[in-house]
Amino acid sequence: LPKRLQGSTPSVWNEYIALAMQYKPLNLGQGFPDDAAPEYVTHSLADIAQDENPLLHQYTRGYGHVRLVQALSKLYSGLVGRELNPLSDILITSGAYEALYSTIMGHVDVGDEVIIIEPFFDCYEPMVKMAGGVSRFIPLKLRKTEQGPISSADWVLDDAELESLFNAKTKMIILNTPHNPIGKVFNRRELERIAELCRKWNVLCVSDEVYEWLVFDGAEHIRICTLPGMWDRTITLGSAGKTFSVTGWKIGWAYGPSQLIRNLQMVHQNSVYTCPTPLQEGVARSFEVELARLGTPESYFLSLPRELKEKRDFMAKFLSEAGMRPTIPEGGYFMLADWSPLASKVDLSSETDKHRDYKFTKWMTKNMGLQGIPPSAFYSEPNKPLGEDFVRYCFIKKQENLDKAAELLRKWK
Ligand code: PMP
Ligand code: GLN
Repeated sequence: LPKRLQGSTPSVWNEYIALAMQYKPLNLGQGFPDDAAPEYVTHSLADIAQDENPLLHQYTRGYGHVRLVQALSKLYSGLVGRELNPLSDILITSGAYEALYSTIMGHVDVGDEVIIIEPFFDCYEPMVKMAGGVSRFIPLKLRKTEQGPISSADWVLDDAELESLFNAKTKMIILNTPHNPIGKVFNRRELERIAELCRKWNVLCVSDEVYEWLVFDGAEHIRICTLPGMWDRTITLGSAGKTFSVTGWKIGWAYGPSQLIRNLQMVHQNSVYTCPTPLQEGVARSFEVELARLGTPESYFLSLPRELKEKRDFMAKFLSEAGMRPTIPEGGYFMLADWSPLASKVDLSSETDKHRDYKFTKWMTKNMGLQGIPPSAFYSEPNKPLGEDFVRYCFIKKQENLDKAAELLRKWK
């Protein structure tokens, strides 16, 4: 076994998808919509299949199908306030996963330190390890503990702790906003602090913004690459799966200054080489539809969060009624809930996992037919206890399925 793989185990996704296949619970675990994506998105594939152009079924440009990088350049040039060169400033990847991988492998050298904010999307740590880097963790901490609703904005970084992680070996910080699993949308002050430290220590910022369109209650998604001095040191990542509710398409991207994107292109050309042409064409056509109605009420980027907010509120209510304490997310499509008030109602003695949240979620899957994700999967080994009182549920689900979840919890006495 090569050293870089030592200690690797199947991820929470592989484990919990197998569990779901075995027990067939109502699945609020893995994050994906269980309802139809917009018609123009899915139908674009039918049109492409019937298109007269046979080349739509052959390899396309390795760094990204031209029609797609052009659409993304139009979109993001407007959003970041500078002209993106579609051929050099954007790379199309196999989902945001590969965008993360190409970024980390393309920039982190053996011994480099990478700052990761906990809880974190679980693949960040193994990717840093694969590159030979050293992860340095800082947890978001809940600052309010009295009764009453908790907002994702109540999860904050300790400023002095953050500052103490930066040093001459720091290569990169990975930011995720809106955040999975907390739903935190980092505000301008928080981003400015991170940006200031990046500038001071000459550190790259990788900004995972796959949930960029999913913000609620007037929260503003701010792209850290637009802060002063940040464009030249930021790589921003996105996902068609999240943007258009087609997670199975696995098309993602990275954008930033060409001198940073070039390293990603090298990793990509030597591993994936090029992503599927019909899917890139479909994403391109879908963006063209949305570009024409950006900012109008018909925009999917506005209608989806509007619908999701209702589901968020519905879930917060039924989880609270069941006795859990949810964190109300400002963005994304996950909700973290403290289940510890229910500890006396569950007998976890038959579960053998090390961490209580794993025991709880497995018990729930098997005994109640409801699946969530154990948040300790999103913490480094020493900090896993920080996730143990929580469970993560996904709310981008059909109302009938959310109703069923509410009913399962209501009947549970
Ligand atoms: N980053 C975060 C925070 C995510 O939640 C996901 C979801 N899978 C990804 C990256 C990967 O996205 P994709 O499905 O496009 O690979
Ligand atoms: N991003 C999704 C989640 O957090 C899917 C992750 C995955 O399947 N690897 O649930």
